[in-house]
Amino acid sequence: MQAATLYVVATPIGNLADLTERAVQVLGGVDLIACEDTRHTLKLLQHLGIRKPLISVHDHNERDRIEQVVDHLDAGRSIALVSDAGTPLISDPGYPLVNALRGRGFKVVPIPGASALVTALSAAGLPTDRFIFEGFLPHKSGARRERLDELRNEPRTLVYYESRHRILDSLADMQAVFGAERSVCIARELTKTFESFYSGTFEDVINVVAAEDNHQKGEFVVMVAGNPEPETASAVDIERLFRLLLVELPPKKAAAVISELTGENKKALYQKALEIQGKI
Ligand code: SAM
Repeated sequence: MQAATLYVVATPIGNLADLTERAVQVLGGVDLIACEDTRHTLKLLQHLGIRKPLISVHDHNERDRIEQVVDHLDAGRSIALVSDAGTPLISDPGYPLVNALRGRGFKVVPIPGASALVTALSAAGLPTDRFIFEGFLPHKSGARRERLDELRNEPRTLVYYESRHRILDSLADMQAVFGAERSVCIARELTKTFESFYSGTFEDVINVVAAEDNHQKGEFVVMVAGNPEPETASAVDIERLFRLLLVELPPKKAAAVISELTGENKKALYQKALEIQGKI
């Protein structure tokens, strides 16, 4: 192992055989392992027959731990960073640490392996040439719908992480925001015994998930096809914009601004501006 180096090591998302040979070499070769949950990582290390000093680095202590990690690296030690499952930093702790170490000129080496988002996308049958990873949604429905609404018009495939506690509520909010006809695929329990993919419209998928308690168990990746026909601003939005702008601007100028924003025809917008001004 290289001295004074942090190795960011991906671990399996279920099936232990998905741990790479290189990950095993690194975990066996470093001086210590920084992990999210020591009990969880101990189980993995026991399975591999590896014994190493562990330090915990999780969401609540990560910033305090940075100096401790820096001291170890200054002393020339090599450290592996792992999370409970998959690739560290991907909806998991590690970003502040890696950012701080890079900022101070330490070497950070990625050891690639499983991540639920790429695993799910690779077998979902939705477009993968362009996608957006959104991680976890807010827990409360109002905030969740707001977040979903930001991407209502997004043409790229959307990828979300979700837990069993909120899967049905989140799917219902997605259906309300994206529309019943949008294609969706959910990947449940990837690489594990009950791995399942459910695809179709929101209605199809919600019916399958709601049909059996077992279908709501485990961990989920939700993938939503992008909007194939992103709407331009709706008539209501345009009317609202005019009502706001016409307080400050003459109709011609307001029409030009809205045309720039929406791509709509300037002349038609000018006519609309005159109509709306007559009503104000
Ligand atoms: N770092 C991990 C990665 O690289 O995918 C993600 C960790 S995040 C805390 C855990 C979430 O990832 C779960 O709630 C679920 O949405 C998704 N996930 C992890 N393992 C999964 C699996 N085996 N099947 C489906 N989703 C999984």
